[in-house]
Amino acid sequence: MVKSVRRDASCCTSREGMLSGGNASRLTTEGLSLTMSNSHPVIFFGHGNPMNAITSNSYTEAWRRIGRETPRPRAILSISAHWYVPGTRVTTSSAPRTIHDFGGFPPELFQVNYPAPGDPILARRVRELLSPLDVIEDNGWGLDHGTWSVLKHVYPAADIPVVQLSIDETKPAAFHFEIGQRLAPLREEGILIVGSGNLVHNLRTYAWDRHLRAPYDWAVRFEDAAKDMILAGDFKPLIDYEALGRDAALSIPTPDHYLPLLYVLGAGRRGERIHFPVEGIDGGSISMLTLQIG
Ligand code: ZN
Repeated sequence: MVKSVRRDASCCTSREGMLSGGNASRLTTEGLSLTMSNSHPVIFFGHGNPMNAITSNSYTEAWRRIGRETPRPRAILSISAHWYVPGTRVTTSSAPRTIHDFGGFPPELFQVNYPAPGDPILARRVRELLSPLDVIEDNGWGLDHGTWSVLKHVYPAADIPVVQLSIDETKPAAFHFEIGQRLAPLREEGILIVGSGNLVHNLRTYAWDRHLRAPYDWAVRFEDAAKDMILAGDFKPLIDYEALGRDAALSIPTPDHYLPLLYVLGAGRRGERIHFPVEGIDGGSISMLTLQIG
């Protein structure tokens, strides 16, 4: 059995800033002149251990608070670390299934159902915004645990439609940032764009057992450095993360949990408030950082 291990959890940081974007952090200037009124925030959630879905802790309580304090969206577009496949795909089912995409967890976790409806019209709009990129309509995928383990707390009634967009594993990091930029208009259309992954995600060093482990120094250093760059609007090095050295290499041994962050940064706009409603490093090497823009 796997236990949820939490260390150094905290929330509601006072550190925040504004997206300045004045240092070549944007790959294009598209969308920067659009009005920010009636714009929904864009949020990156650090989802961590799947057991968070059926656990109450400081992280899940903070996720619930975000749901209460964020304007209710018409629908949610989720980019989850757990749909990391060749090609850009979008879910088109009007009743997406709850996918239990993990092993070795207690039966209660496999019984979780998150029956949010889908939104084929939103899926079509996503394809339109990303055209001429070939976005594949996918009626087979549903909601994976990167999406539902968080949304189960943020919107427990499961009454807001959810669409997932896959992460094309064959593309470089800049591609994912650009997709975020192109999706930004959805924020004026009542859509909450969510990225779900983890800024630091090293399962080889994660304390799966009961033994509590202090965060690794490399995890703390990389998280701090990334937060500084995010607050400064200095996204270029975050896109080129493979050049950031040893701390980044240990924190991002595979790109899947990191890339959802780049979609969220891409969908942010100059002058917007940016803050971290959830912080903490779980089990030594999983950053639970949540980032909200707007
Ligand atoms: Zn995960």
